[in-house]
Amino acid sequence: KKQCDLVTLFFMEFFYIMLSKIIAVANQKGGVGKTTTAVNLSASLAIAEAKVLLVDFDPQGNASSGLGFTSDKIDGNIYNALIQNVPIETFIFQTEVEGFDIVPSTVDLSAAEVELINEISREMKLKKILERVKDKYDFIIIDCPPSLSLLTINALTAAESVLIPMQCEYYALEGLTKLLDTISRIREHLNPSLYIIGILLTMFDQRNNLSKEVLKQVTSHFPREAFNSIIPRAVALSEAPSYSKPIILYQAKSKGSDCYVDLAKEILERVNQ
Ligand code: ATP
Ligand code: MG
Repeated sequence: KKQCDLVTLFFMEFFYIMLSKIIAVANQKGGVGKTTTAVNLSASLAIAEAKVLLVDFDPQGNASSGLGFTSDKIDGNIYNALIQNVPIETFIFQTEVEGFDIVPSTVDLSAAEVELINEISREMKLKKILERVKDKYDFIIIDCPPSLSLLTINALTAAESVLIPMQCEYYALEGLTKLLDTISRIREHLNPSLYIIGILLTMFDQRNNLSKEVLKQVTSHFPREAFNSIIPRAVALSEAPSYSKPIILYQAKSKGSDCYVDLAKEILERVNQ
């Protein structure tokens, strides 16, 4: 089944992808699976022969460290490109998955928030620097910090679409209104064509009634946005970063890995609609 999935993925990519698609993975709520999704979606798209750049845009640098790019191993990161105008190409690193590159981030990026304040077009900085490399990739995935700060606003301004991961827990929908308001404001002022590519349920537990309740609510309120792919709570997904690997290299034959491959397929369908 897996091989079959990968073959379909490959052909979908081969026939349809022509322009680079920039997707911001955002939710101001912490710990909902943004980074896990950004990393594993990027890897699954790359396995399908897409050229993918993951931009770690969170000062926590979890996507970077989870793929082995800790601050002691890199000499420069997204901060230097954003604030010091060093060409972003300088900070593009290849991951273990062919076709999957990353621009890492470190705690340096937290200073950017303040330093951007006085810049002209401060919301447009990321968009501007991604323009240099946009044509080299089929997908650029941006992992956002858990806030609606200037960094997230930069990501939503640079992106074509936003993917919203949502943890299957109580209060999951709380805060969504604020995120949707922010998206509307960004559409009005900065990025008119920004759209929601989908809402992804994460850490779903089949045996938990609360999980099922959240699923019901999300599919009834957001029938169009909710992805069919749902990410289960799976230990392997939380272990993979400590081996510096995406799930597809850490445990390719696992439910977690299959679900992110399915998500990649759905994304390919949606971007081509
Ligand atoms: P932050 O807001 O801090 O950036 P985040 O939204 O990026 O967090 P993650 O870092 O992806 O969220 O996930 C939070 C924690 O939950 C991590 O320890 C991660 O390994 C774990 N986790 C994420 N998804 C799953 C899953 N499907 N199954 C089990 N554990 C998961
Ligand atoms: Mg994160």
